Amino acid sequence: MRYVEEFRDPTAAKSLLAEIEKVTNQIGATKDKPVHIMEICGGHTHAIFRYGLDRLTPEGIEFIHGPGCPVCVLPMSRVDECVQIAEKPNVIFTTFGDAMRVPGTKKSLLQAKADGADIRMVYSPLDALELARRNPDKEVVFFGLGFETTTPSTALSIQQAARDGLTNFSVFCNHITVPEPIKALLDDPYMMLDGFVGPGHVSMVIGVHPYDFIARDYNKPIVVAGFEPLDLLQSVLMVLIQIRDGRAEVENQYARIVPEHGNPISIAAMEDVYERRPSFEWRGLGEIDASGLKIRDRYKAFDAEEKFGIGYAAGPRVVQEPEGCECGAVMTGRMKPTACPQFGKGCTPEMPLGALMVSSEGACAAYWQYGGRRAAEPAE
Ligand code: SF4
Repeated sequence: MRYVEEFRDPTAAKSLLAEIEKVTNQIGATKDKPVHIMEICGGHTHAIFRYGLDRLTPEGIEFIHGPGCPVCVLPMSRVDECVQIAEKPNVIFTTFGDAMRVPGTKKSLLQAKADGADIRMVYSPLDALELARRNPDKEVVFFGLGFETTTPSTALSIQQAARDGLTNFSVFCNHITVPEPIKALLDDPYMMLDGFVGPGHVSMVIGVHPYDFIARDYNKPIVVAGFEPLDLLQSVLMVLIQIRDGRAEVENQYARIVPEHGNPISIAAMEDVYERRPSFEWRGLGEIDASGLKIRDRYKAFDAEEKFGIGYAAGPRVVQEPEGCECGAVMTGRMKPTACPQFGKGCTPEMPLGALMVSSEGACAAYWQYGGRRAAEPAE
């Protein structure tokens, strides 16, 4: 890729849309009997709405918005634990900005900051490391959050802290993995999924083979996709062609960025620092086996759960979602955001009830930002 405009070319988009329409008709998909394609990644959800692809593609295609937004799937219990750590004396709690407004049971990190906790936004775990070096009399905690895209950078910062002999730096580890929730969705008898648009950024790290089970065991096509409109249109077309031809394969539309076997340096750092938790709680989805990462014992001096005796280190706990919150139904594609009774009423970006309205990758935020809000307004 030289220029991003190449991937936004209207003439190429029209020709891809014509092909998509042709193949949709060949499959026999209609508005009443659509083909269901899940875009796993929240970044794709936002790109689909930003470029109006949901309206440009035929009515016979229904996009199901998947759980690939780490802020959206962060359970309330973990937000509560963030607040618990941040409000301890002598702690500087550092986090990406996206997580600041995610509601907890009693308050978000933003509200905790307003109440006096020392919470700081950072752009990278290395910023948190630097804070630890400059504040040796404080305990600096980094809120490690995200899928395989951000997991390696947290691992590298832990390795660096170990090399530097830092004793006042730790990570509250909430890193999660993509393949396991997809498996959980595919095992759900109520899910009607015909194919997947696979996450581009995650695949840049893990490669395409962790998705082999989707084609092999569930007979569903998946195409790893880029984030520009032509990337997405081409990926949707590739999924449709597989369905039409009765194939189920893992294909890589984003080969300019995603290596088949991922990034070996990132994979090695993750292997060194983390192990799988037996299970991890996802907001709206419940506990999913082997879907979360824990810091290995050899780095436990940098594990905030061990240091503060909270989280999974303190034993299992379940926190109920707020009354009327339909985030789980939206994340599993059972409900469109605008069908949630709270959309635009009890839940807006200014006063969010659920995390999907807060995150820059959340499906509800996408609907709100790119026109879905009109569905929540009373008709004139
Ligand atoms: S509108 Fe709010 S409460 Fe409803 S699903 Fe979206 S984020 Fe959750």
